[in-house]
Amino acid sequence: MSTINPNISGIYDEEYRDTIATVDANGKRVWLHPKKPKGNLHNKRIWATFIFLLIFFSVPFIKINGQPLLMMNIFDRKFVIFGQAFFPQDFVLFGIGMITFFVFVILFTVVYGRFWCGWACPQTVFLEMIFRKIEYWIEGDARQQHKLDSSPWTADKIRKKTLKHFIYILFSVIIAHFTMAYIIGIEQTIKIVSISPKEHLSGFIGILVFTGLFYFVFTRLREQVCIAICPYGRLQGVLVGRNTMGIMYDFIRGEPRGKINKMPENSHSENKHGDCIDCALCVQVCPTGIDIRNGTQLECINCTACIDACDEVMDKIHKPKGLIKYASVESVEKQVPFKMSPRAYAYSVVLLLLIGVEAFLVLSRSKVETTIMRVPGQLYQVQKNGLISNLYNVQFVNKTSEPIDLTLKVQNNIGAIRLQGSQIHLPMQGRADAVFFLDIPKNKVTEMKTPIKIEVYNKTELVETVKTNFLGPIQ
Ligand code: SF4
Ligand code: SF4
Repeated sequence: MSTINPNISGIYDEEYRDTIATVDANGKRVWLHPKKPKGNLHNKRIWATFIFLLIFFSVPFIKINGQPLLMMNIFDRKFVIFGQAFFPQDFVLFGIGMITFFVFVILFTVVYGRFWCGWACPQTVFLEMIFRKIEYWIEGDARQQHKLDSSPWTADKIRKKTLKHFIYILFSVIIAHFTMAYIIGIEQTIKIVSISPKEHLSGFIGILVFTGLFYFVFTRLREQVCIAICPYGRLQGVLVGRNTMGIMYDFIRGEPRGKINKMPENSHSENKHGDCIDCALCVQVCPTGIDIRNGTQLECINCTACIDACDEVMDKIHKPKGLIKYASVESVEKQVPFKMSPRAYAYSVVLLLLIGVEAFLVLSRSKVETTIMRVPGQLYQVQKNGLISNLYNVQFVNKTSEPIDLTLKVQNNIGAIRLQGSQIHLPMQGRADAVFFLDIPKNKVTEMKTPIKIEVYNKTELVETVKTNFLGPIQ
């Protein structure tokens, strides 16, 4: 998508796209020190951060019917969403759920661009609203940070840097523990914390690795995650279009830019300047170091800092706010309000259909998943009493939040099941295996492979009917 501002001379060649703000001509990292953001939208982002942190730190403690609200246990292949456990056997549900999720992401991005990145992405929230704020608090605004970084190591510099990194490690430890809680559950995480590392070495190492990872991401990688690593960021190039909402510089209104003292006195003169006074504040506050006046760029994480900075300038020079604003390329070019594109409507229809299918599958999901397989390598046995027997392995998965006892019956009572071992007891959201013989009178076995149905009962409630085959001699 080309979103070049045609009113800005010298950028038709898009030279600014040949370099990134965080790498110098020698290929070395340029450390960004964005100016402290402030303003109306930033205040709103502070509130959004409170809500995000409240959700992030409280979800692992919330239970529904004794189950976590959200748990993604990739080690035990157990996933709990809204208190509902999902197992590998639910792969159809999972597959449709993933497609629905991706369509939602596509739809959202087609319409709202990187809105998520600026307001709710954990990377942005933690980096810009916590780690960066700690930096401002200890080292001061951008200018003081630059000065401190280039100054020799004095006692004051050592004190500031030590304090900053100590707090960074502390926050990394906290985030790591909660990340673990989302994976293995809050009880297990508390257990790991309360016992000696030797007693739960893998859990201890897991927390250590997460802590190191978060510390590295928020102190060294920083904006590089959004600029170069995050796959969602990379997707922007194919998802955003001329009608996508984003942070836009209104070049029709802003150009030709010019310093305020070079403006003609009569602002109604034919050669009047645009509203941009080229103060570069929008560039100085940008946490990814870009100049939004060049047009939309992949590096923009929609943090709104440039909007606030420019609005403050507009206030001071008595011009209307919104020279930089939420808008689409189309709406800026045509100077019309932002509206949804036909592509967005089409995606919405697909999304609604997928949500409907997913909801139906979740609501009609059986409480128990039963897999019955004939024991490999076994044919059939002819009993002295004239019965034909087949041996089966059966595996049960209990998807409910209560332990249950199951019994098996053959549909229409054409045969009898002889369970080997004690009754079938399933712990809540647990698995159980069993072995059974199925005996069918010889006169009812009419084919070499007779299709039969086994009914699974929880007390008197029929919870599932499973199809299998019964082998017997050809009559
Ligand atoms: S902050 Fe506004 S006025 Fe200043 S350079 Fe940026 S767009 Fe122009
Ligand atoms: S261009 Fe503006 S909205 Fe985009 S990252 Fe920079 S400051 Fe944030």
